[in-house]
Amino acid sequence: MKIIDGKRISAEIKDELREKVAAYKAEGVEITLAVIQVGNDPASSVYVGNKKKACEYIGIRSLAYELPEETAEAELLALIENLNERADVNGILVQLPLPKHIDEEKVLNTISPLKDVDGFHPMNVGALCIGKEGFVSCTPAGIIELLKRSDVEIAGKECVVIGRSNIVGKPMALLLLRENGTVTITHSKTKDLKEVCSRADILVVAIGRPKMITADYVKEGAVVIDVGIHRGEGNKLCGDVDYDQVAPKCSAITPVPGGVGPMTIAMLMKNCVESIQLQK
Ligand code: NAD
Repeated sequence: MKIIDGKRISAEIKDELREKVAAYKAEGVEITLAVIQVGNDPASSVYVGNKKKACEYIGIRSLAYELPEETAEAELLALIENLNERADVNGILVQLPLPKHIDEEKVLNTISPLKDVDGFHPMNVGALCIGKEGFVSCTPAGIIELLKRSDVEIAGKECVVIGRSNIVGKPMALLLLRENGTVTITHSKTKDLKEVCSRADILVVAIGRPKMITADYVKEGAVVIDVGIHRGEGNKLCGDVDYDQVAPKCSAITPVPGGVGPMTIAMLMKNCVESIQLQK
């Protein structure tokens, strides 16, 4: 059984990006990411802090906009429109969740699709759907990198995705399809989830329920990717997969922490660097 090391692979990607950014700088091209946070949700502050740190490491300039909780929707939209127009800003990221009085969908749809490094704009989702170039949601894009860099063949394989969220499950299924996997999407209304999952050569789990996937969901020799993150007993992190039970059955598995998690930021950085090509 192989443990897919997301920490090592994400570090590898960040080092590759650092070199690319240095080459751009040598040509006089600087990459800038604008990060907007509204309010001071502690988890969001940690995520934003990590994104800033990653920018610093890679050599991307980051602009931080820390707006108070009571910021009006119109004010936030105006800021985004201003950043859309600025030629010196390549990527715009609005940290979610937003306060309840702000319409999240409206905000995400206001970000220019050419600067939408999170890949949430309907234009980018549509581009992924019809196989055109565009920004792809970072967590599922990171999972494809994990599979490729661990020499897991996707073409022709039975791939089962649990979860159909817009951020993880749906784009994950589309990406696996793009890699020529035979893809099944399952969700809370799926009948006999165990039976469907146990057909999978590659099982991607994005449910949001601690340790729900036990050994009886998994085929002998399957590759299991665990997207879930939870704080379990004794403040210990765990995923949606019961790792101790499932790992011995797998040919490869991602741990939590140190699997999918670190890839999300690495792919955000990759999207920032690739924005230069898309914007040309
Ligand atoms: P979500 O709540 O939006 O979606 C969960 C999906 O699971 C839904 O589509 C639902 O149909 C399905 N589901 C719920 N209960 C089910 C059941 N009993 N059987 C089968 N399907 C069921 O969640 P999300 O945003 O997709 O995130 C999923 C998990 O991944 C969460 O734990 C989240 O914290 C984590 N996550 C991690 C990263 C990362 O960077 N590692 C990024 C995003 C999300």
